[in-house]
Amino acid sequence: MLAWQKGKIIEIKQVAPTTRSFFIETTETISFDFEPGQFITLDLPIHTQKNRRWRSYSISSSPNKTNIIELVIVYLEGGAGSNFLFNETKVGDEITFRGPLGKFVLPSTLDKDLYLICTGTGVAPFRSMIHHIQQHQISFKNIYLIFGCRTFDYALYKDEFIELQSQLPNFHYLPCFSRENEIPDWGKKGYVHDAYLEILNSKKSNSHLPEAYFYLCGWKNMIDEAQKRLMDLGYVKKDIHYELYG
Ligand SMILES: Cc1cc2nc3c(=O)[nH]c(=O)nc-3n(C[C@H](O)[C@H](O)[C@H](O)COP(=O)(O)OP(=O)(O)OC[C@H]3O[C@@H](n4cnc5c(N)ncnc54)[C@H](O)[C@@H]3O)c2cc1C
Repeated sequence: MLAWQKGKIIEIKQVAPTTRSFFIETTETISFDFEPGQFITLDLPIHTQKNRRWRSYSISSSPNKTNIIELVIVYLEGGAGSNFLFNETKVGDEITFRGPLGKFVLPSTLDKDLYLICTGTGVAPFRSMIHHIQQHQISFKNIYLIFGCRTFDYALYKDEFIELQSQLPNFHYLPCFSRENEIPDWGKKGYVHDAYLEILNSKKSNSHLPEAYFYLCGWKNMIDEAQKRLMDLGYVKKDIHYELYG
């Protein structure tokens, strides 16, 4: 088990109406190494019982040989960790954390199309992976980032992904909005499921399934539904990786 270590909150940025980015300096290391897709666990002073104080957050920045990482966190009404992080935390505060943790990481080669499917702050590990792929010029076939949220103001890192799409051929950014009516040409109306099914169906030939890696990240409803829809199409469990936020 990794040891707990100290960090300091060096910046907090409001990035959507109920979502903030927290920049953390890991004060006990000069360089915080991790694999894109991993998370850290915070030990928050919200309970006397140890394991009831722990909350995990994916690292949304990519490994960059510094000791600064970014987390992107949504406020959940009634949540103890949310309340602490949004109402009782400020720049300069010390935090206790453990990590990096988790196995939700890229395959060793990107020899098949990669579908990164998420809702809300579930985009965090995928942002880290995509920047890493660009920074290291890792070759890939197609990457589809299929991001779902209700309204435009929750389109986390939108400008950044649009920019990356113009720089990285075969990286496709597909933000899906469930509660907007007038959709600009960079987005889609509806839920993430319609978006990946449309691509997969358009790539099917002679009823052969297109080869792909699926990565799902976010909350249970979306993950359960995506798993079911992909398995109904004929994909098997080992094609589908997921990180469940709750
Ligand atoms: C590996 C991993 C990575 C994660 N990464 C991220 C990330 O990058 N970003 C992110 O935003 N989240 C992430 N999460 C989720 C995160 O760990 C927390 O679960 C989340 O922030 C909610 O914690 P909380 O303490 O606010 O809610 P909790 O107190 O744990 O409550 C959980 C749920 O119960 C509800 N609830 C709590 N108390 C009450 C009450 N009294 N009445 C009614 N409902 C109640 C809350 O609304 C909430 O929906 C991740 C989770 C995992 C496992």
